[in-house]
Amino acid sequence: MTSTATSSGLIGDAVRERFPILGRRGFPVYLDNAATTQKPREVLDSLVGYYETVNSNVGRGYYGLAMASTEQYEQAREVVRRFLGAEEADEIVFTASTTAATNLLADTLGRATVGPGDQVVVTGLEHNSNLLPWRRLCDDTGAELVVAPVGADGRVEPSAFAAVLGPRVRIVAIGHVSNVLGTVNPVRELAALAHRHGARVVVDGAQAVAHRPVDVRELGADFYTFSAHKVYGPMGTGVLYGRRELLEQLGPYQVGGGTVKGVRHDSPVQYVPVPARLEAGTPNVAGAAGLAAALEFVAGLGWDSVRAHDEALVGQAVAELAAIPGVRIVGDPGAEPSGIVSLAVDGIHPYDVGGHLDRRGIAVRCGVHCASTLLDDLGLLGTVRLSFAVYTTEAELDAVRRALAEVEPGEWTASHPDTRFL
Ligand code: PMP
Repeated sequence: MTSTATSSGLIGDAVRERFPILGRRGFPVYLDNAATTQKPREVLDSLVGYYETVNSNVGRGYYGLAMASTEQYEQAREVVRRFLGAEEADEIVFTASTTAATNLLADTLGRATVGPGDQVVVTGLEHNSNLLPWRRLCDDTGAELVVAPVGADGRVEPSAFAAVLGPRVRIVAIGHVSNVLGTVNPVRELAALAHRHGARVVVDGAQAVAHRPVDVRELGADFYTFSAHKVYGPMGTGVLYGRRELLEQLGPYQVGGGTVKGVRHDSPVQYVPVPARLEAGTPNVAGAAGLAAALEFVAGLGWDSVRAHDEALVGQAVAELAAIPGVRIVGDPGAEPSGIVSLAVDGIHPYDVGGHLDRRGIAVRCGVHCASTLLDDLGLLGTVRLSFAVYTTEAELDAVRRALAEVEPGEWTASHPDTRFL
């Protein structure tokens, strides 16, 4: 696919035709892409195509159709490997989501690595999915959860990170891109600091993968997680990348079909190597195929186009929305645009702003975005988050600007002025 960039840097309206849902009557101006992206025709076709042509269980049947299904599943693993710059396809584990991948890590790596008095370091901008698994691990094992502070620009500065690291740190869990602020953590520097202390580095890439090229080796990530649905792929499929020699030390996690070489009642269970050891039961093969189609779709657009598009949209949003009286942009989303702009409107509850936009046909997320700890640190009740995708247009941003200029306090501001939701 060739890119269809316009003079403004935006990818241009042609890409919208590839997303059937965008053409539906009454479909809103959809600016909640950080929650989930819409799916292009290629992805929808790959899902239906899988079930129409090769559906059969993988890694089990010794007949042509089952082998074709297995091949498609393993090809998807190879597409993910290339997308992440991993060394081997066997470093890619398919999971149900970022959340599932992080829980897998906390329950395997975490329980094998962490004991009383050890430390797990997270950053102050983590989504609950990259916070709660580590917090529970610490609660259960007597380890200490340490939170690296977020700077005024919405990133974790390497010097502040270094200050919380010490000889007891075993694991650090870092969000690549903040789902609230759209800011980008300097993962490479943070990972290098953590490695000096011998810690394992887990990176939550859920908000990064649709907006920037990722090279796990260049970043120094020992583990990297993401969800297909955030990068134009289907829901129900996620990825855990793990550096080969570390991944090999994991598991089993959930046990069942596909994880064992053979089982006898009178001898110890022999598990198969990774990644199959970590993929118990029938996997979501259509989901993996859909993810591969999604990653190929993004590769076809090209990262330069995606970056220019994000820069144009975020730049325009920051400049125009901040000029509206009472509107304040939170953090510094323009520093390294990643498709997210969060804002607050003085004296108006974020839910009133969201409702006002919804009545004008604009879908955004408002509230704490599953990251109430960050909102606490920012001293905010919540934000109104605009999140963009490759099909977002200037006209859509104009609609937001016009609507925001007219927002007024409503029911939430009147009856729950200090109450936080979601
Ligand atoms: N981490 C971040 C930064 C996220 O934005 C999200 C989704 N909002 C997740 C993790 C969890 O993703 P999922 O719900 O697909 O597991």
